[in-house]
Parts: sequence; structure tokens; C-alpha cells
Amino acid sequence: PLAQLQDPSLLKTQALIDGHWVESANTVPIHDPATGRLLAQVPRLGAAEAETAIAAAERAWPAWRALTAKQRGGVMRRWFELLMQHADDLARIMTAEQGKPLAEAKGEVTYGASFVEWFAEEAKRVYGETIPSPDPTKRLLVLRQPVGVCAAITPWNFPLAMITRKVAPALAAGCPVVIKPAEQTPLTALAAAELAQRAGMPPGVLNMLTSDAAGSVDIGKVLCASPVVRHLSFTGSTEVGRILMAQSAPSIKKLGLELGGNAPFIVFDDADVDAAVEGAMQSKYRNAGQTCVCANRLYVQDGVYETFVQRLAERVAGMKVGSGFDEGVQVGPLIDDQALTKVQRHVDDALAKGARMLTGGKVLHAGSGGRFYAPTVLADAHAGMLCAREETFGPVAPVFRFSTEDEAIAAANATEFGLAGYFYSRDVGRIFRVGEALEYGIVGVNTGLISNEVAPFGGVKQSGLGREGSHHGIDEYVEMKYLCLGAI
Ligand code: ADP
Repeated sequence: PLAQLQDPSLLKTQALIDGHWVESANTVPIHDPATGRLLAQVPRLGAAEAETAIAAAERAWPAWRALTAKQRGGVMRRWFELLMQHADDLARIMTAEQGKPLAEAKGEVTYGASFVEWFAEEAKRVYGETIPSPDPTKRLLVLRQPVGVCAAITPWNFPLAMITRKVAPALAAGCPVVIKPAEQTPLTALAAAELAQRAGMPPGVLNMLTSDAAGSVDIGKVLCASPVVRHLSFTGSTEVGRILMAQSAPSIKKLGLELGGNAPFIVFDDADVDAAVEGAMQSKYRNAGQTCVCANRLYVQDGVYETFVQRLAERVAGMKVGSGFDEGVQVGPLIDDQALTKVQRHVDDALAKGARMLTGGKVLHAGSGGRFYAPTVLADAHAGMLCAREETFGPVAPVFRFSTEDEAIAAANATEFGLAGYFYSRDVGRIFRVGEALEYGIVGVNTGLISNEVAPFGGVKQSGLGREGSHHGIDEYVEMKYLCLGAI
């Protein structure tokens, strides 16, 4: 699939440190999850290269922060335009290494690039304050200054957007970055880094370290321990988030954490059932169910329960599963064998505990080298099942039945996670009550799609710390400084 790029030079297989493309004697193989075939090899870097990249970022910081916000925004604007100009190639690279359908990959390029555009604009709006002084001989000011060298560790499910959502606000604020993309999907990340170079990013301002799983742990330790790195932003599992938080304690690092979810999707009797089915399709099966905001538990009220599950199952049974490059495919492969095993374990557990399988429930295209799982709908799920507690991260929709609003809210909140939640209702009172009662950082009401660059994305409870995107997104990367002017 990578032989067909319009600009083959976007297929970078070196890492980027201090403006130089670097190689390594040790490499990491990158595979196509739809075929199992080898796509490319990238350097397997470790602790030493992490130190080099941090030092390069530290050297680049003074000049980058000294640029005017308009100048920094100008470089970012060119980067945004290049990302959009090369959207087709970026999408091909993404589908090849990550597996999502090409149309979804194109959607992610637009979404990922939108953060670069948004924060290029927001760079100019990092306003300070003047505070009325309680002492007539003093004047009180608040400056907002870049926090310093920032690190970003990102996952494979959104190989571009999870990088730009962190890197763009950091760059806009005046901070250089060291990025460690996921070991499964470095090629999209490196292509984006190449375009940043073409846009005129100065050496050392944007560094990208590739590695395998073990090397990523080593790099993570250096990024966390370094006193030069002032902020670490991570998107990934809650388990790894906890490790990074503990490792960052000695250096009192600022942290942005976007961790796991266990999203409830509630359909009340007064909902538009067809719209709810449509929303569930979008929320559940996008990226083969591998997003942290995917509906994980569908709660449907008695009065519409059977109608909803039947209509959902009909739609899901008709979904086309296959390589993301094939025309009309809606569900691509899962990222790896472990993902497939976890999904099957959740389905087997639910069936053993009394769930009713309406469609799916099996591995597809066995022997193709791909990791395909049939989109699945399970009715009569209950709280004792694994899928009620853990994020499935696959194309499986367990449907739970409920009777009252209070019961639905209690069930939805009965988890340590709190990223996204959804509900469908046409009653304005209920929309406010339930919207306020759900313990989630993001609540979709009568929609299954909630992400965009202008709104704050992030979770409560053990789903993380901080918000990305929106005008709040840049706050993570600026420190307030209080200037007290005396003897006036
Ligand atoms: P997922 O379950 O989505 O693969 P992970 O949390 O395992 O998510 O990984 C997300 C990112 O974190 C990847 O870039 C991975 O390489 C990195 N990572 C995983 N474990 C560690 C660790 N102990 N230290 C630093 N980075 C890590």
C-alpha cells in the first residue's frame, strides 16, 4: 500500500533529533495489521537518544520562546497547510500501519491538522492580567510564560491526532517538544514530523524518538526523571498513566493524562430510537471500537429495549469488515493479536454469564494474516460481566436493560473511569438532570460524536488529568508569573 504514495519522501524511517534524521543499528519492524506483512523498519532508540533529544530541545527553547506568537503561529500555519495538502498520503500511511478504513484515516488527518490550525491562532491569545492592587504604591501583573521542554507519549489508535493535540498547544505557547509515538504506528508520526521540518520548524523544537515496547519504557523513564522536561503529556492506558505519574513524582512534573474510558451510552424511552441506533453505530464501531471515547456499555430503557437491540443488530450485521484500503469497508482489523484475544475474552465471558448474542461473536478472515473481529451485539448484559467493568476496545456492543433514570445514572457512574458518556432523550428536564449527574468529562447528548478542536477534551476520576483542545488546551503549557511592582 505504501508504494502508491504521491510523495514517497513522506515515508520516513529515521527518527528526528535536533533537526537531523537519525538511524540506529537496532530497528523495530512495523506491520500492517490487515495482512501481518512488514511495512518498514524504524530505529530502536533508548535512554541515550532520549537524553540527546532533551538536550537539543533545551538548547532550542530560548530562541523558540523569543519569537513573537505570530511568528510561531506562522510556522504552525504552514505545517497545518502541508498536513492538509498531503492528507491523502498521510491517510494511506495511517491505514497501512493502523488499519482504520481509509475514509476514517482521512477524517483523522483533518481532525489532527485542526489542532495545529487552532493553536496557531490561539498562540496570539495567551493574555496576562493586571490586578487592582490593595496597596496604592504597588502594581500587580500576571505574565503567562512557556513552561519549558515538554514530552509527549502517544498511543496507536489515533497516530496523528494524539500527537498534534499535545504538540500544537506546546509549540504555540513557546515550548519545544520531545515526542515518543506508539511503537505500532511511528510512520504517520514521522511523516508529520517531516512536514513540520518543511514548514520551517527550527532544529530541536520538534524531536521524535521511535522505539519498540521495551525501548519505550526506557525512554519514558528518562523523560519522567529529567528535571529539564517540565511537562509530560500522555494518552494511553490508565495502567501506564499510573506508572508515568509515579515516575514523575521525584521531579514534580506537570502532567496531562488522557487515560482509559468505559463510556456509558444511555437510551431513554423518550429518545428518537433511530437516531440513537445511528449514534451507537458511530460511537461504538468507529476505528473498530478502538477509541477511548467509544461506547463501552449501552443502557437501554424497558420501553424501547427490544426495538433498539433488534435495529442495532440489523445494522451491525450488515457492516463490511476488511482491509481499510478496500472499497466500502467500515470495520478494519484490530491492532494486534492481544487486542483480538481481549475482545474474544469479553465476549466469551458475557456469553457464559447469560448474554444473548444477536450478531458477530467471532474472528473473521482467519488465515489472512489480519486480526479481524466480527462487529458484535450482545443483549441482556449485566453488571457482573467483564465488559461492564473493563474497556473492551473492540467492536462489541453489550446492551444492558434498565427501568428508571436513577438506575441508569447509578449504573453509568459505577466505574473508576470518567472520560466520555452519552445519552439519548428528548425531554429537556431530563437532559439537564442526566447531563449534570453523569460523572464524565465529556457528555454527548443525542449525538455519538463529540470530538473537535474547539471544545475541551479530557476525563475525571481515573480517566486522567487536564484538558486538551479548546482555548483551555494551551493552559497546560504556560506558567503564571506574578510580578509585583513596588515603590510606585
Ligand atoms: P495501549 O494499551 O493503548 O497500547 P499503552 O498505555 O500501553 O496503550 O501505550 C501508550 C503509549 O505509551 C505507547 O507510546 C507506549 O509505547 C507507551 N508506553 C507503554 N508503557 C510505557 C512505559 N512504562 N513508559 C513509557 N511509555 C510507555
